Amino acid sequence: MKKNNFMEVEFKADSVNESFARVCVASFCLPLNPSLEEISDIKTAVSEAVTNAVVHAYPKGGGVVRLRVELDGADVLITVSDEGVGIKDFKKAREPFFTTKPDDERSGMGFSVMESFMDDVQVSKNGERGVKVFMKKTCRSGLLCEGTYARR
Ligand code: ATP
Ligand code: MG
Repeated sequence: MKKNNFMEVEFKADSVNESFARVCVASFCLPLNPSLEEISDIKTAVSEAVTNAVVHAYPKGGGVVRLRVELDGADVLITVSDEGVGIKDFKKAREPFFTTKPDDERSGMGFSVMESFMDDVQVSKNGERGVKVFMKKTCRSGLLCEGTYARR
């Protein structure tokens, strides 16, 4: 039988919480028995999405980032959302090298990195305010023990 689980956490939009978010997602995914490469891909993508919320969403400071992780069989479904200033042109924002902070040593590659490491990436409005990034990755190594979560 396919198993599922989820968790949700909210934290201050502060760069100190980027590593927390990475580790949080990685440890929650462990029951899927992901390969080192899969877990590293997921951590990198989460890092980019959370960093975006920290760097871009709240120019006046403050603000909250919400992280939701769902395990659905071998699939990891991740949502990173904020209630910040939002994105005017989603298509443009996702173009490689597009950044609104070129003077800030930003390269405009965050969304491209997410796309290359995850199986699916969707960026949309988070209700009335802010940005919601949905990402999906299938942990294929976990399929070896389909239906069960491996013990660690
Ligand atoms: P890099 O990720 O390479 O450091 P970057 O953050 O500018 O640079 P992307 O992550 O690809 O590049 O994001 C592209 C643009 O989309 C950003 O410059 C910013 O204008 C906008 N953006 C991304 N995430 C958010 C967000 N959560 N809130 C508001 N704007 C965002
Ligand atoms: Mg970025």
